[in-house]
Amino acid sequence: MQRYINENNLNLVKEYVDDGISGTTFDRPKFNEMLEDIQNKIINMVITKDLSRLGRDYIKTGFYIEDYFPKNNIRYVAITDGIDTYIDSTNNDITPFKAIMNDMYAKDISKKIRSVYKEKQKQGEYICSIPPYGYKKHPKIKNKLIIDNQTRYVVEKIFEMYANGHGSKEIIRYLNSNNYLSPTGYRKTGLIQAKSFTNYKWNEVTICNILKNEVYIGNTIQNKKTVISYKVKKVRNVEKIKQIRVNSTHEPIVSQCLFEKVQSILEKRGANTKLKHDYLLRGTLYCKQCKRKLQIVLKKGSSKNAKEHPYIVCSNAKSRGCEPININYEKFEENIIYAIKKICQTYVNKEKLYSIYEDLKNKRSETQETNKKKIEQIAQAITEINNNLAQMYMDKLKGILQEEDYIRISQKLSLERNKLNEQKKELMAKSIEAEEKPQLQNDQKEIQTIVNEFLKFENITQLYIYRLIDKIEIDKNKTIYIYFNFSRPELVNEKVELIFKDYIENYFL
Ligand SMILES: [Zn+2]
Repeated sequence: MQRYINENNLNLVKEYVDDGISGTTFDRPKFNEMLEDIQNKIINMVITKDLSRLGRDYIKTGFYIEDYFPKNNIRYVAITDGIDTYIDSTNNDITPFKAIMNDMYAKDISKKIRSVYKEKQKQGEYICSIPPYGYKKHPKIKNKLIIDNQTRYVVEKIFEMYANGHGSKEIIRYLNSNNYLSPTGYRKTGLIQAKSFTNYKWNEVTICNILKNEVYIGNTIQNKKTVISYKVKKVRNVEKIKQIRVNSTHEPIVSQCLFEKVQSILEKRGANTKLKHDYLLRGTLYCKQCKRKLQIVLKKGSSKNAKEHPYIVCSNAKSRGCEPININYEKFEENIIYAIKKICQTYVNKEKLYSIYEDLKNKRSETQETNKKKIEQIAQAITEINNNLAQMYMDKLKGILQEEDYIRISQKLSLERNKLNEQKKELMAKSIEAEEKPQLQNDQKEIQTIVNEFLKFENITQLYIYRLIDKIEIDKNKTIYIYFNFSRPELVNEKVELIFKDYIENYFL
């Protein structure tokens, strides 16, 4: 520090040391004193050894570096991180990302405390205090679920209705008009049906959560929700990949077949609604002031022949008193994608991507091989059935086989044959599809080109965004806070690898 000051001919005014107070909080007396000195124009420059000395909370660190310091004409230097807001260097570009990583360091510590719970979850124990609707806790065995015979048929009804083509709105109407209390209502009153409780109504979120929950086919999936951070005790959803799953931990309420049917309908309905919203960031944008989702609306510019452009607005601005946010969506998206790209490119391990490519390529040729073999096997089985049927027909004619038996067995065999034919068709379609896709090359250069193409993120989709970003908050002064779905740099890599797999599978496999 002293060397830096000497070398740069700076004049040291004061040192602010907050001993023993964690960098995770900005409520530090000396830090506050520094802010006062800035206000009183006693100092015009702030130097820290590295970024984490300024603070480990990236939102606030970002606020000081990008907002507070520039506004107050303060030059900020983080020596070891090579940041100097006075110089327009490329290092400054990465400042917000470095700040994020410091945030993660603090997160990492609070994570360790939670890992004890995770151990229990991994053993398939149900450590949540509230059993899912349709189940109750085992009276003797701790953390074990058993079916609640009072509510199980409501769950069954929901699954059956949905599988039979009724939408969630219809299901809600049915349940509410028959006075079924919502899961919360049941938990609080112990009643399944009651006329008098009007505030325990079913809603779409509850229905959807039930329909998607694998607990109903006997699996335990935990770590679904996690505490958002060491700062705010707020719960957020965890991506599927991070969840802890243990199969067959308790008796299922719904059959695997029914559950899968429901999932495929859910997926299709979801796909239909997606077409209407093709803005990449839709669903991730929140108003920092009122914490609600922001809308993307089309607006015309002021000139006469102006085209319509999407703008981000808070629809609660009037009713909740938020200062209006009015941001051109297209520009905004461009900037966010740029930031994501930069993070991914900074932390990505290209070697790993190369090896993923290799693996996928090998797997592809392997599955093509096994597909061919399977098709052959099925064809053979079909021929055998045909031979059997012919033989049986002869036996019937000769009187060796009774008419009844002939009908029964031949029906069974025909059914079997139909099934095999379906399987064969499916496999053939798959193998044709695979043949039509571009061949993957072994050539190292080719691999590099594909990885580099991918890292341009030109084919970015909503799914990629959801994998990487939890939410984006916009504040009144248009400050943007990006909350990522990873908590350590190496996890950035993990996400990128996942996306890369998708990319390869989509375009090449
Ligand atoms: Zn708002």
